[in-house]
Amino acid sequence: MRFGRLNDRLVLLGETHALDVHKMSGGRFAADPDLAFEDWDSLVDWAQDQSPDDGIEYAAEQLGAPFLRPPQIFAIGLNYVDHAKESGVTVPSSPTVFTKFATCLTGPYSEVVLPTDGVDWEVELVVVLKKQAERVSVEDAWSYVAGLMVGQDLSERATQLAGPVPQFSLGKSFPGFGPIGPALVTLDEVESPDDLAITCSLDGEVLQAARTSQMVFSVPELISRISHICPLLPGDLIFTGTPPGVGMGRDPKRYLPAGGTLTSEIKGIGKLVNTMTAASVAS
Ligand code: ZN
Repeated sequence: MRFGRLNDRLVLLGETHALDVHKMSGGRFAADPDLAFEDWDSLVDWAQDQSPDDGIEYAAEQLGAPFLRPPQIFAIGLNYVDHAKESGVTVPSSPTVFTKFATCLTGPYSEVVLPTDGVDWEVELVVVLKKQAERVSVEDAWSYVAGLMVGQDLSERATQLAGPVPQFSLGKSFPGFGPIGPALVTLDEVESPDDLAITCSLDGEVLQAARTSQMVFSVPELISRISHICPLLPGDLIFTGTPPGVGMGRDPKRYLPAGGTLTSEIKGIGKLVNTMTAASVAS
């Protein structure tokens, strides 16, 4: 199943048609996608018997961010060996964890205003939690996951690297710096959730191409380790880290140009197509 946001309402998505969950359930489930986790298991049970073809036709470009107010957002740095290397640091022995503040979340086809000419790309697998997870084992961790999305962890490197220690959370939280979607894809739709092809391209030029099986800390390990410190809550997002090929690691360094179109894709999950625009000169 694929759940998304259309006209700011929770929908069950097919290829061409989208079913309004609130209307078609006779008001049993909320229209607001951010309330989907109040009764997630019942929602999934109900959705199993529905056909998106009974809904309205839509175009992918109309979809919004599946979620805009997750209780918590975790993001992982340096979670692919060659990305740690290109960042000039050793491979971490425990996950490097920061947050992206929720105000940065935006849709799969949104335009992103570039605050500076130093904005970098980071395609990532995003995990969505369906129930509270506290001190869960690696073996049980997938059973806490509602589904997967594609995400971009856009990063303004000057802000991130200002000061004596990095400001990961602020440098990665300008408005529009968290495109997610295009839908939450439930795990039954994903053949090998631990081994997905993940790519990012700019105007058709492939910049990142890897497999999620190359993560230093796998999705179950991340859930287990984080949940031994912070309880994870229904609706929480985990940005699981980016593979190598970011602009900062290149010689010369490269950043996103105004007018550029960034495509972030995970096979079997979907793609984000975000166009970069220059900040308005007027102030
Ligand atoms: Zn990242």
